[in-house]
Amino acid sequence: MKRLCDKYAAKLTTQGLAAPNDPIVGGLDAELVWNRHDPRIEEFTKLFDMLSINSLVFSKPAEPYATILEFLAGRTKAAIRPEDTETRTFLHNIPICQEFTAPAMAASLKKRKAVIIPGEGIISCGTVSPEQGFVFYSSTIFACFVLFFSDHLVRLRNKTLDEEYRDTYQRVVTQLPQPHTTPPNMAGGSLSNEDSVLAAMAESGRHVVDFGLVDSFFGNISYRLNDTIYISQTGSSLDELEGCIDPCPMDGSATTGLTASSELSAHEDVYRRSNFRCILHGHPKFSVIMSMDCDKQDCPNRGACHIKCSECRTVEGIPIVPGEVGTGPTGLCNTLPPAMASSGAAIVHGHGVFAAGTTDFNEAFERLLDIENQCRKRYFTMVESYA
Ligand SMILES: [Zn+2]
Repeated sequence: MKRLCDKYAAKLTTQGLAAPNDPIVGGLDAELVWNRHDPRIEEFTKLFDMLSINSLVFSKPAEPYATILEFLAGRTKAAIRPEDTETRTFLHNIPICQEFTAPAMAASLKKRKAVIIPGEGIISCGTVSPEQGFVFYSSTIFACFVLFFSDHLVRLRNKTLDEEYRDTYQRVVTQLPQPHTTPPNMAGGSLSNEDSVLAAMAESGRHVVDFGLVDSFFGNISYRLNDTIYISQTGSSLDELEGCIDPCPMDGSATTGLTASSELSAHEDVYRRSNFRCILHGHPKFSVIMSMDCDKQDCPNRGACHIKCSECRTVEGIPIVPGEVGTGPTGLCNTLPPAMASSGAAIVHGHGVFAAGTTDFNEAFERLLDIENQCRKRYFTMVESYA
């Protein structure tokens, strides 16, 4: 358990999510262990008696996230309500806990997976492994980032941006990491056997995470070799895919349907409709922000854009489609494949980017990275045009 606590504390820092040396990660098996000493652990320890949890993750976020979270928390009384897919699916909303005491934190954590404590940081818990707390922490940062930039653009357009928001935005923008512009050089050429496919998938997954093109780990990756689709398992970390890839025969005889990504049927339909060989799916932040941006006033679909948007919108030529995770009638399994088959990539509203390649992952990665950089550029161009 100590090893897991150390692992996720280190991951928070290396992924730029937590202030250096700040994460506190605790886990309980035979006894309760922590990654490091800190006076606040006394209060956190009480949470293990108050909640049915086996692990806890806490940290002050790295910049610019700390500035964003403090700002949003300062303007919200009870909870922050982002509208991206991850929040809809996993977090619902993000409560603000004004008191750094175990009873107050426990009350919020009973209802939600992650909680912001202004002036302190984000706290989240797990019932199986510290990995869960890490994921919820990371999703919280992603959701707040998307909300902050989306709301800024809306207010700028509607001329309702106040001084405080403008100042905070300026501070956040100067602290944004520079975008990656050069794609990695990955195993190239057509992949002809299972071993090379598995190795190439693991390699590309690590780069998707390293390049910041997915938060926590909710993306997925697949490759079509003859009539078998190799796909990352649901909930697997893209930077640790070894042993977490399922082969799924396209004749439907797969027995791995339960562990394979929930988006398997969407991937499969893309392959049926096209000559593509591989698909990368990430949640790059500016692509998600731009997918949710709409200047239509009084749209009847507002509030349900992620399911109902009927406009054929694009960002720099890449189609934006509505669609929920999964295979229901409003699922992205219906909207994504036709868009992907014709454009090689698509952005799912409020969710993320799917990019395909015809031979190896280099082409798909380049598409994914390019779409995110185009969206980032477009965001700042729009901000300038409204200013
Ligand atoms: Zn996704």
